[in-house]
Order: sequence, then C-alpha cells, then structure tokens
Amino acid sequence: MRLILLGPPGAGKGTQAQFLTERLQIPKISTGDMLRDAADDGTALGRQAKQFTDLGRLVPDEMILDLVTERLPQPDAAAGFLLDGFPRTVGQAESFSSWLRDRGLSLDAAVDLKVRDETIVERISHRRVCPECHDTYHMLTRPPIVDETCDVCAHKLVQRDDDRAEVVRERLRVYQERTEPVISYYRDRGMLLEIDGERPVGEVTEAIVAALARGKGGQL
Ligand code: ADP
Ligand code: AMP
Repeated sequence: MRLILLGPPGAGKGTQAQFLTERLQIPKISTGDMLRDAADDGTALGRQAKQFTDLGRLVPDEMILDLVTERLPQPDAAAGFLLDGFPRTVGQAESFSSWLRDRGLSLDAAVDLKVRDETIVERISHRRVCPECHDTYHMLTRPPIVDETCDVCAHKLVQRDDDRAEVVRERLRVYQERTEPVISYYRDRGMLLEIDGERPVGEVTEAIVAALARGKGGQL
C-alpha cells in the first residue's frame, strides 16, 4: 500500500505513522526526520536544509525531491510506503505523481489529519522527540516512562529547534500558503481521506485503518 499523511505541523502525522507502519507493514518515510538526521550528521544537505527549517520555511522542492526519489527505490519500500511530511507543495505532488506514473505505480490514498489551530499550538509546545529513533512524546498526554528519556532506545529526548513559538507561527503560515493546496490536489483526484485528528491517538489510528479499508473495498 502506498500512502501519504497530510495535515498541519503537530497534527499527529509522525505519531500515526509510527503505529500505521507496524499495522500495515510498510516503512515510514519522513522527510522531516531525514532532514534532521542529515543536520545532526553535519552533511552538506543537512546544513543547507537547516537554514530553512530553523526559520520555519520549506526546503526547496529540488532538494526534497532528490531525497525522496533516492529513498523510495530502496528494497524495504518495494511493497509500499507511508510518506510523512511529503508532498508539501503542489510542485512536489505533481513531480511525485509523474515519478509514480513513470514506474507504473499508483497511490492508494492521501490521509488528511484535521485538527484545530489551538490543538496544534498545544501539541507542539509539549512535543519532545528522540533524535536517535524518532519516537515522539507529549509531555502531558504521552510522557516517557523515565523523565526526558526515550522509552525505545533510552536516548535523551529533545525539543525540536523549530518548535519554538515564533517558528511555529511561521510554519503555520507557510502550511496555509503552500501545503493546503496539496489537499485540494488529492481531493480533485479522488484520493483524499479526511480524518478527525482531535481524538486520542489510538482512536485516530483506528479511524484511518477503517477509512482505508472502506477506500480499498474492505481488503485491509
Ligand atoms: P506531526 O508529525 O504532524 O508534526 P506529531 O506526531 O509529532 O505531529 O504530534 C505532535 C504532538 O502531539 C506530539 O507531542 C504527539 O505526542 C502529540 N499527539 C499526536 N497525536 C495526538 C493525539 N491524537 N492526541 C493527543 N496528542 C497527540
Ligand atoms: P516535519 O518534521 O515534517 O514537521 O518537517 C520539519 C521541517 O522540515 C519543515 O518545517 C520544513 O522546513 C522541512 N521539510 C520537511 N518536509 C518537507 C517537504 N516535503 N518540503 C519542504 N520542506 C520540508
């Protein structure tokens, strides 16, 4: 199955991707995680990308498309994948459609997680992430078992550089301007599944799985 997770920053895409990847047995491909790993590793791409991500801006399409089209042909993604954070512009969506078409592949669905602005701000301000394995926590509703420590790999949790309030405001502005049109792109092509992302994590996962099953004629 080939899926896209859409939704504003803080909607719960990474969190849902973590559960869906196990449930559907497909890898999660997160452009945000890939860029943060590259920045932590100090690669040229990582350093360049950080100039955009730290300001809450989008990384240029060409850089992102290079990253994604290098990752997708890897063997673990042969039977499907779950994209988290890509595409974020109509240009990326168009290039991705061509990439799929050229390979005789198609997308199964684009899942849009809908949440209110107040929820986004609340979730992002309490978010902590593991820089090692990318597990995501909310310090009030999904805290780690041991203070500030990843449950999975015991690495120290961090707050993302772009989760500061002033950067979040810019990310939301950029989302409305550049990424909301991507929702219409997939709606117009009959691929959009809209999901209420306000509910607890497990209920959102179940709603996505049920919507996919309906969309796929009950094959899941
Ligand atoms: P995104 O990948 O869309 O930016 P995340 O998955 O990182 O969003 O989630 C943002 C924050 O909200 C994290 O702290 C996460 O633990 C929390 N969160 C995610 N989904 C829910 C939910 N359904 N209910 C409450 N908190 C959630
Ligand atoms: P995320 O982890 O998905 O919230 O992404 C963090 C940041 O990485 C974004 O605010 C952008 O600066 C950058 N980024 C991630 N994915 C993309 C993309 N598909 N296009 C452009 N920039 C991206």
